[in-house]
Amino acid sequence: MERRKEILCAYCRKLVSYEIQVRKEKIFVKDTEIEYGEKYGICSVCGNELTVPGLDDENENKIEEIYRKKNGYVTIQEINQILEKYRVEKRPLSNLLGWGELTITRYLDGQLPGKKYSDVLIQLLHSDSVMEEYLEKNKKNITEKAYEKIKGTIEKRKQLYSTNTIAERISIYMISSGYEITNLFLQKLLYYIKGFGYVFYQKDILNMSCEAWVNGPVFPMIYDKYKGFGKEILSCENMEFDLNSLLSEEEKTLVDYVLNIFGKYNGWTLREFTHKERPWQSARVGFEENERCTNEISDEVIRTYFMEVDKRYDLKKSDGVLAYINSLDVLVQAVV
Ligand SMILES: [Zn+2]
Repeated sequence: MERRKEILCAYCRKLVSYEIQVRKEKIFVKDTEIEYGEKYGICSVCGNELTVPGLDDENENKIEEIYRKKNGYVTIQEINQILEKYRVEKRPLSNLLGWGELTITRYLDGQLPGKKYSDVLIQLLHSDSVMEEYLEKNKKNITEKAYEKIKGTIEKRKQLYSTNTIAERISIYMISSGYEITNLFLQKLLYYIKGFGYVFYQKDILNMSCEAWVNGPVFPMIYDKYKGFGKEILSCENMEFDLNSLLSEEEKTLVDYVLNIFGKYNGWTLREFTHKERPWQSARVGFEENERCTNEISDEVIRTYFMEVDKRYDLKKSDGVLAYINSLDVLVQAVV
């Protein structure tokens, strides 16, 4: 348990240890009703309430945040996210927006922005192109170095979140789906979408070939995009995608189907599945288990393989897919 410093209890008249508890409170700020969990301290000796330093501020901040959320104002946390997102300091950002140099600083200190200012900040949080417009319009307001840095960050984000190819769109759809997907996991899911695409629609829905790397099939272009995440869970943080318009109905049906079945495993389990399958194996003939290999896995081999599996197990039914997965005889680490 966390040990806290003792504080003074007015009833016990001595330093005591204490506990922090939460009670539901309802208050009005201007005309807004706010419900929140108020934190308070309880003396461990006499059970009376006592004043814990810093707790009032914490409660105030919570009220402030709820007030802002309810009235559509940008929160301090969101302003910090903007600075992080574009790797920009508060003063240059103020200048870039054509505001007084200390405006953002004051907002970060707790001042409530006017509605118009708040709306601009909310736009910046969700749209890179709005930021880009300000950057070009007001570049004379900031140093060339600051300009280049922000420009570079936007370019990187554009590349990361580009939806030009179907493989990119499917990736973003899956990353935003709520499943915890690492880059390794993403590669295997894409591979199964490709394989199942032949079964569902008799075509390569992904329109991209993969290579037989040590850890299973990999789509290098997509892999490189998300390389920066390492082994972390991928996210499209601060990007808003309309998931419904990202994919066609046909694509969505297939991707949802594959996600529903394979999404409950993890990247390492799927790696084992693919290691048991002919497409990956046949592309690695002559290679040691841990030897680097960038041989392409032929689309035709993938197609024939999944058509064969479908004939035997019926991959259009989830029971069929599960029977197939069982047949691979892999120790499964399912995530509940
Ligand atoms: Zn006490």
